[in-house]
Order: sequence, then C-alpha cells, then structure tokens
Amino acid sequence: MTPPGTIAFHSPFIPPEWIAAHGLQPSRPMPSPAGVREAEGRCPYAAAFAAGVESGDAVAAVFAVTCDQMRRSAEDGDREGAGRFLFHVPSTWQTPAAHRYYRAELRRLGRFLERVGGRAPEPGRLASEMERFERLRERLAGLRDGMTSRAHAELTARFHAAGELPEADGDGSGNSRGGIPLLLLGSPLRTCDLGLLDAIDRAGGRVILDATESGEREWPRRFDRRRLGSDPLDELADAYFGHIPAVFRRPNTALFDWLAEARRTLPFRGTVLVTHPWCDLWRAELPRVRAVLDSPVLAVDLAGDGVPDGSWATRVQALLEMSA
Ligand code: SF4
Repeated sequence: MTPPGTIAFHSPFIPPEWIAAHGLQPSRPMPSPAGVREAEGRCPYAAAFAAGVESGDAVAAVFAVTCDQMRRSAEDGDREGAGRFLFHVPSTWQTPAAHRYYRAELRRLGRFLERVGGRAPEPGRLASEMERFERLRERLAGLRDGMTSRAHAELTARFHAAGELPEADGDGSGNSRGGIPLLLLGSPLRTCDLGLLDAIDRAGGRVILDATESGEREWPRRFDRRRLGSDPLDELADAYFGHIPAVFRRPNTALFDWLAEARRTLPFRGTVLVTHPWCDLWRAELPRVRAVLDSPVLAVDLAGDGVPDGSWATRVQALLEMSA
C-alpha cells in the first residue's frame, strides 16, 4: 500500500532528498507494463510510468520533461486529485544561467510540494535527508558484489520506490560472484525488462555497474559536507545538475567523458546497451558509444511486454563469447 503523502517521480534530476525534506514520501517506482496500451511512436517506459501514476494512489507525480515522450506522457490521464508537476531541466549545462534555471525549478517544485500537503523544510532537514540518501546509496552499491545482477536491480528498485533499504540483504556471504563483468547502459528498465538480467546471469555474465537511467549513473556525486552545512540546496543542485552525465544534455560530452573514464577504471569486458522503441536519444548515440568503449557492445531493443527470456539468451551468449 502506498504511504500517505507519496509523490511519484522518475529520474532524471528530480532529487528525492528535496521531496523528503518537505515531509513527503518520494517514490520512484520501477514501472510495470501491466495495463499499458503500447502505441506506435510511444516510449514504453514513459507510457508505463504515466499508467502507474494514473492507477496508483500517489498524491502527486513529478514528470521531468527532458524528452518529448515524457512530456507527452505527462499529459495522459485525468485521475482526479492527482497533482502533476512538469519539472523543466535545461538540456544545456555550460552556462551559469542554466544552473540558475535548475535551482529555480527546484524552488518552484518546493512550492508545489507545499500545495499538495508538504511543508517548507525546517532548518537542517534537507542536509539530513541528503546525508541519509547518500548513506543508503553507498550501502546499496556495496551490496552488488554478493548478489546476482537481477537481485541487485530489484533491490535498487526497492530503494528507489521506498527511499529505504531492508536492514540485511545480499546473499550474506560477502563473497564476490564470478562471471564475465559487463556494463549495463541505456534506457531505464521496467519490471518486465529484468528477464534480461536473468539471461546475463545464466549465461555466465555479471553486471558490475548499472549505468541505465534507472541505475547508478543517474545518482548525484558525493555531497560536500562543508557546503551541506552552508547552503544545502545549492549543493543538492550542483551534485545533480552539475554532475550527472545524462543522454539528453547538449552537448552531451559529459556522457562520453564518463564512458571513457569508466572504460579506463572499471574491469568490464563488454556492454549491454538497452533502448526502448522510439527512444531516439539513446539510439542516436549507439555509434559513439561503440567508438568510445572500443569493446564488444550488444544493443538490445526492449521491445515491449512479454519478450521471452530465451530471445535474449543467444545474443547475450554471443556477447560473452566475444568478451571472454
Ligand atoms: S527511454 Fe528515452 S524516450 Fe523513454 S523516457 Fe527515457 S529518454 Fe525518454
């Protein structure tokens, strides 16, 4: 059951810390395709998120309109009582004006949160939520090694949906799992896409970093404790807007700098790049992703609901053979 005062949102750049600081419950669910009518030209992830908002009981939903698909989905539905907030994130990022714009959007979101039942953050509340979320993110990242790719993705989804982690998780052994290390990159995942991770695990692979839009690449940088004390909202804005290498940014050089750095510093031997149908943002970047990574890349089309796991197995196996 959804806790009272739940605000549904999705990434990118909507900080759960800001929602929690207003005394509301941030919830970034992994959407399910159940009941979603797939339509030509429509991103299934955006459609599933909008459908979840429509059928769920969150008091309000925040849509980051960083792509046409999400903008269109924000206009879906008419459930009475559900407030909708369109959060505008500039695609440019190299000017002080873009950073000011993002901070102004956070303040505008704050006023909306007060209108739907929240209250202005008390002194120290935002900083303590930032520290709490950061601790949880670090704990979650530390659990990956002892878990299957799917189990860690499910735990990440639970964390994003509830803003908390169960006390004990992982397989309890603390042992590193074997398997050929892979990078997972691209569009955000829905519940029905997790079968791909089963296919990776079964074929002898291992996701060592989830760099999809529902994974760790969309987390903020570590917070600066000094700035947390002096101006937490400014620090929050910089950690998110100033540092997340998202695909929609223009120019999106930060994404490719991030990929080049990941290639240098992480031991993955191949990459699975997932895209939803109609996601031009990610599809357009496939040649550059291949060029920067200079290692085997499997491009997977998350082609709607009901894709049998077996349809991924052969292609994943071929990637692992190339990456071994
Ligand atoms: S997967 Fe692509 S089209 Fe869908 S919401 Fe994300 S950026 Fe937009």
